[in-house]
Amino acid sequence: MNTGTEPVTLTRKGDTSTMEKLHNYINGKLVAPQSGKYFDNYQPATGKVYSLIPDSGAADVQLAVDAANAAFPAWANTPAEKRAKIIMRIAALIERDLERLAKAESKDNGKPVELARRVDIPRAVSNFEFFATAVMHYASESHAMEDSAINYTLRQPIGVVGCISPWNLPLYLFTWKIAPALAAGNCVVAKPSEVTPMTAFLLSELCIEAGLPAGVLNIVHGTGPGAGQAIVEHPEIKAISFTGGTKTGAGIARTAAPMFKKLSLELGGKNPNIIFADCDFDQALKITMQSSFANQGQICLCGSRIFVERPIYEKFRDAFVAKTKELKPGNPGDEKTRLGAVVSQSHMEKILSYIDLAQQEGGKILAGGKRVMLDGEFSEGWYIEPTIIEGLAFDCRTNQEEIFGPVVSIMPFDTEEEALNMANSTSYGLAAIVWTQHLTRAHRVASKLQSGIVWINCWLLRDLRTPFGGVKQSGVGREGGFNALNFFTEAKNVCIKL
Ligand code: NDP
Repeated sequence: MNTGTEPVTLTRKGDTSTMEKLHNYINGKLVAPQSGKYFDNYQPATGKVYSLIPDSGAADVQLAVDAANAAFPAWANTPAEKRAKIIMRIAALIERDLERLAKAESKDNGKPVELARRVDIPRAVSNFEFFATAVMHYASESHAMEDSAINYTLRQPIGVVGCISPWNLPLYLFTWKIAPALAAGNCVVAKPSEVTPMTAFLLSELCIEAGLPAGVLNIVHGTGPGAGQAIVEHPEIKAISFTGGTKTGAGIARTAAPMFKKLSLELGGKNPNIIFADCDFDQALKITMQSSFANQGQICLCGSRIFVERPIYEKFRDAFVAKTKELKPGNPGDEKTRLGAVVSQSHMEKILSYIDLAQQEGGKILAGGKRVMLDGEFSEGWYIEPTIIEGLAFDCRTNQEEIFGPVVSIMPFDTEEEALNMANSTSYGLAAIVWTQHLTRAHRVASKLQSGIVWINCWLLRDLRTPFGGVKQSGVGREGGFNALNFFTEAKNVCIKL
C-alpha cells in the first residue's frame, strides 16, 4: 500500500525535488512535520541522497503524545487476545512484504539484501508474533499468607511509553521494543534512527492497513537531539526503552532519571571471542568470520576482540586471515554480496580513524585496513575492507573502545585466567563468545565472564524468551520474553485480608 508518497528517485544531493518524503505516523495518519522541514536520507551503497526525512521536534512529539493519551484507555482495556490479533496482522503484513522491506532495509542501511531477507525482516515478523502470543500467557503472581490474607499482583500497562532505536538493525530493533509495549497495552511514541528511517516509515503504512487503532502507535522521525530528546523529556511519557550508544544512553538517563521514568538501556559492547585450543577448529573459524564481520561488524553482539590459546594461535590466525581476504565488500543489493557498506560517511571515518589509532598503538594490519572504492554508481559508497589487527596490548584504546565496524583484533593467551582478565578488562559487558569442547571449563568461564550474554560454541543463537541485555556500561535492565512485558507494565500488589 502506498499512502500518498511519491516514488523513490535516486538523486544527487541538492536535487531533492523528485525525492520521496517520508512522513510521521501520528494519530493513525501519515503527516508532515510541523516545521515543514526535511533533511537528507543517504544510501550508503552510493553515498547519495535518495529520500527526505521529517525534521520533527517537540511540537510533533506533543501531537503524538496527545494521540497516544487519547488512545490509551481503549487500548489498555482491549482484551489481550484482541490486541494480539491486531499485532499478528501487522506481523502477517510484514511477512507478506518481506521482499520489499528487505530491499528497503538494504538500501537504507547498506547491509547485504541477503542478510536483510534472512535475518532482519523475518526477525521483525517474529518480534510481533512472539509478543502477541506471549501476552496471552502472561500471568501474575499470587502470595497467600496462610489463612490470614492473600496477595495478588496486578500487571497494568504504564500508559504512554517512548521507544528509541539505533540504525544497525533498523526494523529488527525498532519492533523488538514496540511489539512488547503494544502487547502489554501501552500506547507508544517511537523514533527510529535518522540514519535508517525507511522501514519504520513502511511499518507505519502496514499498521494502518492492519487496522491498528489511531494513536496506539505513533512514529516520529527526526534527529536524536530534536525528536529523540523531546520524547525523553516529555513529562507524560512514563517509560523509555532505548537501544544505542553508551554516551547517548548516559544522556538519556540524566534527563529521565530525575523525572522517575522507567528506563531500559541497551548500550554498546566490546565483546570478547575466546578460542581455546580444544575447540572445534573449523566451526570456531566459520562462526568467527560471522561474529567478526556480519552486518559489516555493526552488531552490538559482534566479537571484536579475539583471544586465541597459544597452541593454535598461529594456525587459527593464518586461516582466519586467509578467509578474511576472500571476503570483499560489494553492492549490498547484489544477491551474492556478503559484506556491504557501512552506514554513513561519518561512521566510515570513525572506523578508519580507529584503524589509524591501532597502528599508532603498535598494531599490525594482517588483513584489510582501507576504504574500498567500487566502480560506477557505487564509487562514492562507504565500503571498508574487513580488517584484522595483531600485536595490540589488551588494554590499549583500540581494544577498549567500541569501533562498531568490520575491524577485529587478535591476541594469543596462555592461561584461562589470563583470557578472563583480558576479556573482562573493558568498561563494557554485553556479550561474550567461548569456543571449547571442555564442558567444565565452558561452565566455569561462562560464570566468570562479566557480560549479560555468553555464547558457547555458537554466536547469535537467539531464543526470544531469554533475558537480553548487558552489564557495566552496556546497559541497565533486560529485554526478552516476560522481562520485556514486566518492563512495559507496572506491578501493583493487592492484599486482601481474609
Ligand atoms: P546512538 O546512541 O547515536 O543513537 C541511538 C538512537 O538514539 C537513535 O535513534 C538516535 O537518533 C537517538 N538519539 C540520539 N541522541 C538522542 C538524545 N539526546 N535523546 C534521545 N534520543 C537520541 O546510537 P547509534 O544509532 O549510533 O547505534 C549504535 C550504537 O548502538 C552502538 O553503540 C551499539 O553498540 C549500540 N547497540 C546496542 C545494542 C544492544 O542491544 N545493547 C543493539 C544495537 C546497537 P539519531 O540516529 O536520529 O541521532
